[in-house]
Amino acid sequence: MSRRLLRYFALALSSVTLGAMLCAQQVLALRSAGYVDINSGRLVPHAVILVQGDTITAVGSNLPVPAGAEVVDLGDLTLLPGLIDCHVHLFLHPGDETLQTVRESVPERTIIATLQARADLMAGFTTERDMGTEGAGSADTAVKQEIDRGDIPGPRLFISGNAISITGGHEDALGFNPAILIPGNATYADTTDQLIHVIREQIKQGATFIKIYETGRDRLVNGVFSTPYQYTEAQLAAAVAEARRLGTWVGVHDMGEPGTLYAAEAGVESIDHAAQLSDETMRLMRAKRIFAVPTFTIFEYFADHAPTPAAKAAEQALLDYHARQFRLQLAAGVPFAMGSDVGPFPHGTQAREFELMVKYGMSPLEALRAGTIHGAELVRLADHVGSLTPGKWADIVAVAGNPLDDISALTRVRFVMKAGKIYRRP
Ligand SMILES: [Zn+2]
Repeated sequence: MSRRLLRYFALALSSVTLGAMLCAQQVLALRSAGYVDINSGRLVPHAVILVQGDTITAVGSNLPVPAGAEVVDLGDLTLLPGLIDCHVHLFLHPGDETLQTVRESVPERTIIATLQARADLMAGFTTERDMGTEGAGSADTAVKQEIDRGDIPGPRLFISGNAISITGGHEDALGFNPAILIPGNATYADTTDQLIHVIREQIKQGATFIKIYETGRDRLVNGVFSTPYQYTEAQLAAAVAEARRLGTWVGVHDMGEPGTLYAAEAGVESIDHAAQLSDETMRLMRAKRIFAVPTFTIFEYFADHAPTPAAKAAEQALLDYHARQFRLQLAAGVPFAMGSDVGPFPHGTQAREFELMVKYGMSPLEALRAGTIHGAELVRLADHVGSLTPGKWADIVAVAGNPLDDISALTRVRFVMKAGKIYRRP
């Protein structure tokens, strides 16, 4: 028998097997007033989305529904791809951020994290990047594994363990009696060798990417912003190279120059917070497609919940500064992904970030793209999530209203499906 004939039989057999597998799975038809086509930026009326197993098989207007399909009629809701928050902390909750990680045990914090994962999913966030457990070590590995097994409801997670910082730097336990051992909220690395060792250790313990604190503490005096860098460009480049060797990437907490330039030069995947970006940094971010993740909601929350009027004024001034810089970044064509920094404020409320991105100058469509297709690109999952496209995983949410006209529709999620499984119904 010729090799070509053999290949033909193999192909025929595999398509029969695939066909039989698909036939065995119930077809689900979602019907609603319309869906948002993220790529064209249009609201397509009379939406029908067919789902088989964990996959979208067809998307269109008034598509015929196959006989025997289970129909879920979502009335006048608008269908969207599942939302992606690229900056969350499942292991933080509202309350004193410094002391909660001192008082609460890791088991207690892990239980709370699972409840918060559920809250985020029910708010429409089907994929999230967790930017550090802040003192709970690699406990996020357990949460991610249980979600992946389907044992607990939660978003598909990308996790970074405890995150990495320098001695005495951002997230170290400062201001305590030095005679008492208070662990900081990061793992410490001061040299390139230590950085590489900690990266290997964190990946070993289950981290799927690396989070590094690059700046802090921030100062804004008479409108002039400054923040010291923590790692040199060469150190960050070594961290990026090590992460790449291990098949992953680096995201940085990075508020301003020169730390933002060092991170862009080193080739990190995202610059989070990104309050201050020089022209050269923005040029590199555009050229290398490094995402800025603004996290406005955390700044707003801290301003609204400051303990004193002076602290409130300082937080508000920082937010105003960031908002002004954001307009320059938008004009410069910096790529953006949505990230809220939820944790210090209540999980499940972070769609507020979309409203703030629009308030500070982004169009509703671009904000929606930041929280869907750009987030998918940032976590390297653009082939599978981020848009309602046949062949992608069925991560689908439905909201009340049209977010292209009124971005606050994203705070009114009524239906949530992740990988073909319905977690929330109207
Ligand atoms: Zn954060």
